[in-house]
Parts: sequence; structure tokens; C-alpha cells
Amino acid sequence: MNFLIATHNIKKRDELQRITGPLGIDVLLDKDIGIELTDVEETGKTFEENAFLKAESGCRESGMPCIADDSGLVTDALDGAPGIFSARYAGEHGNDDQNIEKLLSELKDVPAENRTARFVSAACCVFPDGRRMLSTGECRGTIAFGRRGSGGFGYDPVFLPEDIADGRTMAELTPGEKDTISHRRRALEGLAALIKEEI
Ligand code: IMP
Repeated sequence: MNFLIATHNIKKRDELQRITGPLGIDVLLDKDIGIELTDVEETGKTFEENAFLKAESGCRESGMPCIADDSGLVTDALDGAPGIFSARYAGEHGNDDQNIEKLLSELKDVPAENRTARFVSAACCVFPDGRRMLSTGECRGTIAFGRRGSGGFGYDPVFLPEDIADGRTMAELTPGEKDTISHRRRALEGLAALIKEEI
């Protein structure tokens, strides 16, 4: 069975494709089936609600079971910000550079021990008959004082994962290393198990 992935973020799409294959989930993009998915307005109050908004819309428009992830960075010193607003923290949607700038500026007086944060991913699947599945994953770490690395996307250059002992940022990891520890991988692993119970 093929599943459609609903996302317009190319880097995230690459990660979703890379991770789902080895989990035994065959995914297609909207362009593979000759459609272009509507950009859904993320009006939910949680990662979970926004993930379902995207997957439901993708499922409705394609008639296929649809997988979507809503994700973001949650920092303790900023009471959870940027959270569900991660992609548009500095105003313009998806401007990673400006988002990082704003984050570093908000945290400029926060000492290392209080810069704890986590990436969160809510991954869900919606079937045309209405069945819905959801799984969440987290990756814990701290926010660095400056950027390092050019891999990944979003806040990766300033995120120091606690699972990486040598002090590299998420953006300094190989794609394979990021996939081993990422919030998205953890969420999709759980989702793949739920999907397999259904099909
Ligand atoms: P979404 O596309 O609405 O789920 O927004 C996700 C936003 O959260 C991205 O634009 C990034 O700013 C941030 N984000 C989510 N996952 C990651 C990640 O793996 N690395 C870095 N930033 C991420």
C-alpha cells in the first residue's frame, strides 16, 4: 500500500522519505500522483492538531492514506517557545536564518545550564475511511551560543543533541546520524508500528 506524504518543506520531505523506506512504509509525493496539495493553514493549538489538519487535507485531496508531521523546537527558558510557531518565529514562514537569529537573541543572557530544549515531532496518518493514527517523538538537547554546520534544516545549526557525546550540532551530523536520534525518526517508528496493525 502506498501512502502520500503531505509537506511543502523539501528538507523535511527528504527526511520523511529517508526514514519511512527502511520502516517498510512506501511513500509518494503529490507530484508523483499528478496533483499539488493545498498549503494548509496551521490553525491548531498543538503539534498534534496541526499534523492532523495537514494529513486530513492531503487525504481528502488525494483519496489516499496520507502521512504528515508537525514539528518544532521547544525551549525551557522561553516557556516552550517557539513551539508550534517554529517555522514562523521571526515572522516570515520558513526563514531559518532569521528564526535562528531571533532564538539566539532571546537566549543571549541565558547561561549554558538553562538552555535546555527539545525537538518535537507529531506524525500522523489519516485513511480515506476515517481511521486516524498518531505518534510523537522527541529529541532532547541544548541551544548553543552560535551556529555550526550546514546539514539538516531549521534550527539544526544551534541544536546540541544530548545523544551526541562529541559536542557536534545537529547540522554537523551526517543524515544517517541525524535519523538515528531525531524526533521525526522516533515519531515515525511509532507511527509505522500503528499503521502495520491496521493494514
Ligand atoms: P512545520 O513544517 O510546520 O512542521 O514546521 C517545522 C519547523 O520546526 C521548521 O520550519 C523548523 O523551524 C523546525 N523544525 C522541525 N523539525 C526540525 C528539525 O529536524 N531540525 C531543525 N528544525 C526543525
